[in-house]
Amino acid sequence: MPQTPHIFSDVTLNTNFLAAIVLAAAVCNSWPQASSAPQSKFGINVKAGPMDTLLLKDYAPASSLVVPQTLVAKARYPAIDVHSHSSMNGIHSPADVEAWVRRMDQVGVQVSVVFTGATGAGFDRQADLFLKPHADRFQVYCSMDVANIEAPDYPERAVRELERCYQRGARGVGEITDKGWGVQASEGRALPRDKRLRLDDRRLDLFWKKCAELNLPVNVHIADHPSCWQPLGPNQERTPDFQGFNLAGKDVPSYEELLATRDRVLARHPKTRFIFCHLSNQGHDTAALGRALEKFPNLYLDISARDYELGRQPRAARQFLVRYRDRVMFGTDMGMEQRMYEGWWRLLETADEYLPGRIWWPYYGLELPDDVLKSLYRENALKLLNWTKP
Ligand SMILES: [Zn+2]
Repeated sequence: MPQTPHIFSDVTLNTNFLAAIVLAAAVCNSWPQASSAPQSKFGINVKAGPMDTLLLKDYAPASSLVVPQTLVAKARYPAIDVHSHSSMNGIHSPADVEAWVRRMDQVGVQVSVVFTGATGAGFDRQADLFLKPHADRFQVYCSMDVANIEAPDYPERAVRELERCYQRGARGVGEITDKGWGVQASEGRALPRDKRLRLDDRRLDLFWKKCAELNLPVNVHIADHPSCWQPLGPNQERTPDFQGFNLAGKDVPSYEELLATRDRVLARHPKTRFIFCHLSNQGHDTAALGRALEKFPNLYLDISARDYELGRQPRAARQFLVRYRDRVMFGTDMGMEQRMYEGWWRLLETADEYLPGRIWWPYYGLELPDDVLKSLYRENALKLLNWTKP
């Protein structure tokens, strides 16, 4: 790739321009709505037309911008993807596993960490499916037993199953999720609010302790993108594709309360390594996220599914990834299509501008320095994950 040291000054212009648009949008939002009378906005007389009846979900502007478009077919360094799901990728048979390995070879992924979402026989079946043919290309993570969490034997039972999964090949736990409905719970099967299991629940102390003993990292999804707590409407930040995740007005704790459960479990279990995925859902505020990293040495991050956070703030994101180069790992969580992997390489490795993404806003390439890229893609995972042969 040609060296383009000037690229971030170009981005400055663009982000200033974007800031102007954002400001304009903020101003427009405060104006009276829904009048068909001509309006003047910044000197333009806005006329009625076909775009007034367009649905938001169908809005997909084509760009006229002429700038370099770099195809990065393969990761610059053999990547370790620390966040993928067998269910999302539709992996059920040995042939499915082979197809995934071929894709990994094609795009430059050396190892994928697979969240099986299972314990018990379901976990064993998946462990065999991945590890028998390709123990060197996959790591499998088990889930957490959350049946009958109110029974007095629950803490010991969950630990016994964890040890069993470890014996069967699990090299980590995850993805453990609390979006407000409780750990590993969802809206449809949530307990009353005060009965829900939280990350910092005493009933999980033994489990987290055992993870440290077995040297098993834990991948955790806490809270969700902050826009989930904002109502769906004219000021909703994310594209309609994400509206199914919205939590506004629902019977869940606030975003801040959920992040506080993260901080408490990190403080109470300093020997357990926690990888909070999706930049711990704090990628919109890298300063706050940096403070959390400085406070908790056992906190690690993956960047999975937060392409749109990194790509909209190329300078802040680059600074963050450079500064915390030992704490952040590459992950996808977005299926296994070729163009998905290529999109990540382009975002992280190039200085391309105005990259098409999967949300309202386009992205800007981070052009990460070589050594940072290497840490992000593989070296941190080589250090932090458990590579004991199953
Ligand atoms: Zn995930």
